[in-house]
Amino acid sequence: MGADLRFDAIVVGGGPAGVAAAITMAKGGLDCVLIERGRFAGAKNLFGGVLYTHALADILPDYWSRQPPFERPVTEQGYWLLSPDSAMRILHKGECYKGEPAAAYTALRARFDPWFAEQAVREGVLVIPKTTVTEVRRDDQGRAIGVATDRPEGEVSAPIVVLAEGVNNLLTQQLGLARGDLPPRYVALAVKEVIGLPSAEIEARFGLAGPQEGVAIDIFGDATLGLPGTAFLYTDTKAVSIGVGLLLEELVHHNLRPYEVLARFKAHPAVRPYLAGGTPLEYGAHLIPEQGYDRMPQLVADGVLVAGDAACMVDALHREGTNLAMTAGRLAGETALEAHREQDFSARALRAYRRRLAESFVLKDLKQYRRMTDLLDSTPHLLGTYVNFINEAAQRYFTAHGIPKREMEAEILGLLRERRSFLGVARDLMRLLRGMRG
Ligand SMILES: Cc1cc2nc3c(=O)[nH]c(=O)nc-3n(C[C@H](O)[C@H](O)[C@H](O)COP(=O)(O)OP(=O)(O)OC[C@H]3O[C@@H](n4cnc5c(N)ncnc54)[C@H](O)[C@@H]3O)c2cc1C
Repeated sequence: MGADLRFDAIVVGGGPAGVAAAITMAKGGLDCVLIERGRFAGAKNLFGGVLYTHALADILPDYWSRQPPFERPVTEQGYWLLSPDSAMRILHKGECYKGEPAAAYTALRARFDPWFAEQAVREGVLVIPKTTVTEVRRDDQGRAIGVATDRPEGEVSAPIVVLAEGVNNLLTQQLGLARGDLPPRYVALAVKEVIGLPSAEIEARFGLAGPQEGVAIDIFGDATLGLPGTAFLYTDTKAVSIGVGLLLEELVHHNLRPYEVLARFKAHPAVRPYLAGGTPLEYGAHLIPEQGYDRMPQLVADGVLVAGDAACMVDALHREGTNLAMTAGRLAGETALEAHREQDFSARALRAYRRRLAESFVLKDLKQYRRMTDLLDSTPHLLGTYVNFINEAAQRYFTAHGIPKREMEAEILGLLRERRSFLGVARDLMRLLRGMRG
């Protein structure tokens, strides 16, 4: 690398956001370089992970013929509400999920990200791995003119830089677009384990007809000790992905170690049978930015666009992040193409990126769920008291006790009243509704 390395555009980060931006720009005719600090794209990345194909199809309409390395289509999905010793399961399964390609697939990032980056190379992007961008270079008027990297003579120039550096958005912070480190109240730490099992065993345990079926379950309640957070259990081809995530503030406040929370969750009587005899294949931890719409970094500066986790584009309630990242990357790429056409890379011109995002589901959803993290934080009963109540109520409801049903119903109401006053329930419901409506 040397000072003569000039491109039309530079992308920092080889995750879904960065690769989506790079492909969009290369398809539009720009000479584009993507710089990734990992040994290869995906080497350092981890997610749950359910991948939604709508965002991929918008970038690569022929993606299916390029044989993406998906695990299983998601043909059954839903929630488990865990009490310490039982589970209320709300799962949806149907023929509607069985089209090909499906709307969602489970995937492992160590396989998906390299494939996605490979598609960028096919479109003409130069992908440079094992290289960390250390600074966005600016001229004396503050306009981005390229980047510096950790390589000797590692300067690369371009009039536009897309920052898709993920949750540790150091460059976004350096430019003053984000306000310092993520506050522990708004960032979750998730730990995930991939546990190998024979395909047929997974199918028998989860009631699947074959490798053409798969399950994605998000789990609340005892999985996170009733604290704000979620857990998940997803089927891969020859493994299950299991994990748990909690806000950093909760981990610190309750002196919890994430790997201990995961070990406890794995030992739950409703979970253990799905993992029995499996071989641990991978273990990792990653942060999830959950500060939402109101605390997002600025998305543009002169010659700079920010996309994906670097801009906190995660809808944790619906476990969506990769599709927001890909869509934002695509829209950043389209904005860069327009800037090249107009030869105007000013922040004023690049604000078209924010407008595009505002018209898409990305900012609409982030805006709608802007209060979700605060809601869970300020309404601790939601994932503790109510989840335990629902489990106990279900047990009473589904068991005959030799008493009239009207008495049984009164007993169930009594169980709730023991835990929460009528006013408390009404207030929690109002807060939940407000949190869902935005
Ligand atoms: C446990 C967990 C479960 C999740 N589950 C789901 C799910 O089921 N479905 C879903 O859609 N989303 C899920 N997400 C969210 C999803 O993973 C993210 O939203 C998504 O990966 C964001 O993509 P990105 O490209 O913005 O960032 P990333 O995927 O983090 O990519 C950023 C890239 O930038 C590179 N990089 C960083 N700094 C530099 C630098 N200075 N120089 C060069 N390279 C750099 C990194 O190495 C990395 O490759 C989950 C996340 C976690 C942690």
